[in-house]
Amino acid sequence: MVPPVIGLTGGIGSGKSTALAAFERRGAAVLSSDDVVHRLYREADVAAAVVERFGRELLDEAGEVDRAILRERAAADPGGFSFLEGLIHPRIEGARTAWIDRQRGLQPPPPLLVCEVPLLFEVGLEAAFDAVLVVTASEGVRRARVQDRGQNFEHLASRQLPEQEKAGRASSYFTNDGDLEGLDAWVDERFEEFAVSTE
Ligand code: ATP
Repeated sequence: MVPPVIGLTGGIGSGKSTALAAFERRGAAVLSSDDVVHRLYREADVAAAVVERFGRELLDEAGEVDRAILRERAAADPGGFSFLEGLIHPRIEGARTAWIDRQRGLQPPPPLLVCEVPLLFEVGLEAAFDAVLVVTASEGVRRARVQDRGQNFEHLASRQLPEQEKAGRASSYFTNDGDLEGLDAWVDERFEEFAVSTE
C-alpha cells in the first residue's frame, strides 16, 4: 500500500517538533519544513537573491545566510517578509514533493510520511495532504516555551491563524498543555490510525 502523507501543524511553541520526533520514533518518515528552509538558504541562487535584496551584511564568516540577521532585515523592510515567502515557499513545495516521491519509491516504503508545516493553513496547503493533524497548547504555555528560547512570541504569533480555528479544521488535534507522555500517547493513536502495511 502507498503510505499516506500527513501534514502536522500548530502554533508557535505548541510542540510540533516534539510530536514530529515522536512520529519518527514510531517508524514514520518525517520532514521538518524548518530543516528544508535551512538547506534552501545554503543554495547559491537563494543566497544570491537575499543578498541582492537585503545586502551582503547578512552573510556570516563562512559566507552563509545568517537567519537571525535576515529576520531583522526583513522586518525592517516593507514587503521584506512577502519577498522571502515568494522566494522560499515554492521551493519548499518542490523539496517536499521530491521527498515524498523518494520515500514512496523506497523498497519497502515507510508505513507513514509526516511533514511538519508551521503555516500549513495560512499558506492554503490542506489539499496537499491526506490528513492534517494539529498540536496546540494554551497561549500562556506557548508564550512561556517561546520566551524560554529568547524569541518574541507576539511578533511570531501575530502572523498565524488563531489556534481554535486550526483545531477546528484538523482531522484530529491535541492540546499539549500536559506532560510529554500525553503527547506521545496521542501520536501513538494517530500512528495506529494512519500507518499502512508496506511490506
Ligand atoms: P516552533 O513553532 O517554535 O518551532 P514547536 O511547535 O515545534 O515550536 P517544540 O519545539 O516541539 O514546539 O516545543 C517547544 C518547547 O516546548 C521545546 O523546548 C519542547 O521540548 C517543549 N515541550 C513541548 N511539549 C512539551 C510538553 N508536553 N511538556 C513539556 N515541554 C514540552
